[in-house]
Formats: sequence, structure tokens, C-alpha cells
Amino acid sequence: RVVVGTKVDQNHVNWVTAYNMLTGIRFTVSRTNAKMDRELTDADFETKHKFSFDMWVDPPDPITQLLTSIRTGNELTPSAKYDFKFKDYAPWVFRHLRSTFRLDPADYLVSLTSKYILSELGSPGKSGSFFYFSRDYKYIIKTIHHAEHKFLRKILKDYYNHVQENPNTLLSQFYGLHRVKIPYGRKIHFVVMNNLFPPHRDIHRTFDMKGSTIGRDFKEEELESNPRATLKDLNWLRRGLHLEFGPTKKQIFIEQMQKDVKLLQKLKIMDYSLLIGIHDLERGNEENLRDKTLQVFQPGGEAAEEPTPNALIRTPSKLESARKAKELRQLIKTQKPVPMEQTSNKMPDELHDPKRNFYFYADDGGFRATHEDDQPGEEIYYLGIIDCLTHYSFIKRAEHFFKGLMNEESQISAIPPERYGDRFVKFISGVTKTREAAEREKAEEAEN
Ligand code: ATP
Ligand code: CA
Ligand code: CA
Repeated sequence: RVVVGTKVDQNHVNWVTAYNMLTGIRFTVSRTNAKMDRELTDADFETKHKFSFDMWVDPPDPITQLLTSIRTGNELTPSAKYDFKFKDYAPWVFRHLRSTFRLDPADYLVSLTSKYILSELGSPGKSGSFFYFSRDYKYIIKTIHHAEHKFLRKILKDYYNHVQENPNTLLSQFYGLHRVKIPYGRKIHFVVMNNLFPPHRDIHRTFDMKGSTIGRDFKEEELESNPRATLKDLNWLRRGLHLEFGPTKKQIFIEQMQKDVKLLQKLKIMDYSLLIGIHDLERGNEENLRDKTLQVFQPGGEAAEEPTPNALIRTPSKLESARKAKELRQLIKTQKPVPMEQTSNKMPDELHDPKRNFYFYADDGGFRATHEDDQPGEEIYYLGIIDCLTHYSFIKRAEHFFKGLMNEESQISAIPPERYGDRFVKFISGVTKTREAAEREKAEEAEN
């Protein structure tokens, strides 16, 4: 089945939550950024600030309203009351992290401004987390479990130090940690992080790899109805795929992965994945100028829910298409991406792209394949280590126990962090080889 990123507008069930999240981020980030920069202290890692929002939002002026209603067919917007509590965690640490990852403070606020509508990626996995993309597709808001929240606060210093020493880390880049609560509602914890996938390139295949083979299979039959499904380890192996990096990139990639995994092992983290999005340069962009909110997703590889009724699966009218194309062109203009087919001839605009400073995101936001001679290959990989806030806790030990009764231990995914990491590195290193090397091996095998 197909899942779409659902536009979160006034009619969406999570509109108020999303609006509150964005309003809270905007307020707290501006507040911290307004101050003079300073060195971090130990206390900064523990800080939390609580804010109470209680406000009326006036409707837009009558002309804007009229234009909006002609454009969208929506009724006039009444004024609304927003009443919620917002907690901001370790604001100075995250300010420094955003600066390490070279985010422009103003840009960050614009991307997450509440004027821009987010799109929501349902609840993908067993975990029950929700994912929201910023309208420009650069950032992801992920709601996290209270245990993950507490854990991130506990390891924040280790994470921070690791990132200072390894700005090219493959681990998720965390930009903020917050909590929102509406009266009588539950507390919602969330992180803001990098979207690994680019706004301006089609991802032709997505894999979520753990280095385990048990249960790591997306049913190939379901690919037909859901061509953009996230595939897993067994699907990768079945296709005989490789991360095609020549000697230079391979060495740097594996070394960084080892360093990152070492930290995860030390912190007793497991269940993380290497998320890989493949853009095939020969296929290029087949779905040029589509509205990002129309993009089809199948996150987590889990059987997904039917999209909510207001999901935008319908054929847009001509006028609408023209408008969307115009909006998207505008969006692309403000985002300064590299022109579609020009990866080698860098445009001056790209100099403003913070990603170009980071080794694994420097090839048009990703990491381009290379051949045996280190010359550029045919794919761009968009990759990173995600879902790295699961502590090897009691639950995992229980899972280990039950699965361990039935399967060969080294193959199950819930093994202790030390072995989980070793297996992860071994698997990923094992599939990192050039096309030429893979062909050579195949020929040798056939001979024997
Ligand atoms: P579970 O614990 O069941 O695996 P989860 O709710 O913790 O699920 P993740 O594993 O973090 O979710 O992510 C689920 C999917 O969402 C991924 O497979 C990927 O498709 C997408 N996703 C997650 N993080 C990112 C990211 N940083 N960039 C792009 N896509 C992402
Ligand atoms: Ca996961
Ligand atoms: Ca998870």
C-alpha cells in the first residue's frame, strides 16, 4: 500500500500539535540566538526551560483571506486560541550543535516557521513515532518516547563531544530537543534532526540496513503496489547490491562508521540502522517538479496505515498544477540547490549550502559512488545512521531471550550492543565495494 506525506493544514488532526511545536521552536530558538555566543558549561547540558503559551491568533487580513479561499476553496479562517506548555532542553548545547553542523540561524527559523505547512509521515514503525518534514524538506521532527528523551539528555555530552571530534559523523544530526503539552493532553517529546534525503532529487531505492537477516525482508510482492517502500537487508542481498566506493571513499566511510559505532557501543545503544537512499544519475529525476507533499513514502518497511482522508492523493487540476509548479520553483529558488544535472560544475550558489562542508553530504547533498580509480560513478548515496536512541534496556533483553530460543543467536537483531555494533560494521563493510571488485569476485567464484 501507498503512503503519502500528508500535508498538515488546518483540517489535519495534528494541526494544533504541529503548530504548537513550530511556535515553540521559533520562540525558544530566537530567544537563545538573540544572546551573545559563549562557551558551554557543564550546567548547559542539564538546562531546561518551561514556557506557557496562551494566545489568540488573529485571522489574516480580509484580502489575504479572500485570495486564500479562492486559491484553496477553504472557508475563512476564524481567530484561534493557542494554549500550550513548551519545554526547551539544553538550548545552548543545541545552539552550538547547529553551529557545528553549519546551519544558518535565520535559515533554520525560516524553515521551521509556522507559516510553512509541514507534511506528516504517519506513524511508520512499531515505535509509534510521528515524523514531520519542514516545508522545505530540510528538517525532520520526530516524536520520541519518553525513555528515548531521557536517554538523549543523559548521553548529550558524549554525543556533543563526539560531534566536535567528528564533524563528519554519520550519526543523525540533532538540532533541538523539546516537549509540548496541551491542556489535558499528553506530553509529546520530539527532536529536530537532518533529513538525509534531498528535496531536489528522486530517491529511486531506499534501504534500512541493520546487518541482521532475521525478519529483515520486505515482501517483494508488495513492491508493485508500493514502489517506494523502504527495503531491508535481505532485499539488498537478493539484489546483489553494493555501496560502490573506490579505495579513497571506502576507507574514509568505513573509518567514520567504525568511530560512530564505537560510540554507540560504549553508550549501549542498539537497533539503529544505516539508512541508504540511492539516486541513479542515469535515471535522473523522473518526477520533476512535483509537490513534495505528494511524494510517496513507505517508511520503516512496516505495513503502513491507509493515509488519512485528507491525504493528497488526487489528480491536481491544471490550474493547481501550474500553481504547484510555480510554488515549487519558488521553493527551489530559495533553497539554492545545484542545478539538476550539474554535479561536477558547482554553481556559486552552492557555496551557501552548509552540507557541502561535510564529506558524506558534499556531492549534491549526498555521497557519490566512485570506481576502482576513484573516478565518479553512476549513483549518489544519501546515507546516515538513524534511530540511535534505543538503549539496550530490559525490553531488549527480554526480546533477546525469546528470540534466542528460536534462532541462531548471531542472526537475531536484539543482541547486546557490543555484538550488534560489530555485526553492523562487518555487514556494511562487507557490502562496500566497487562494481569492478564485485565483478572480479563473481568471475573468480565461477572459476572455482
Ligand atoms: P522503529 O523503532 O520501529 O524502527 P522508528 O519510529 O524509531 O521505528 P526510524 O527507524 O527512526 O523510526 O525511522 C523510520 C523510517 O523513517 C526510516 O526507515 C526512514 O525511511 C525514515 N527516516 C527516519 N529518519 C530519517 C532521516 N533522518 N532522514 C530521512 N528519512 C528518515
Ligand atoms: Ca528503526
Ligand atoms: Ca526506534
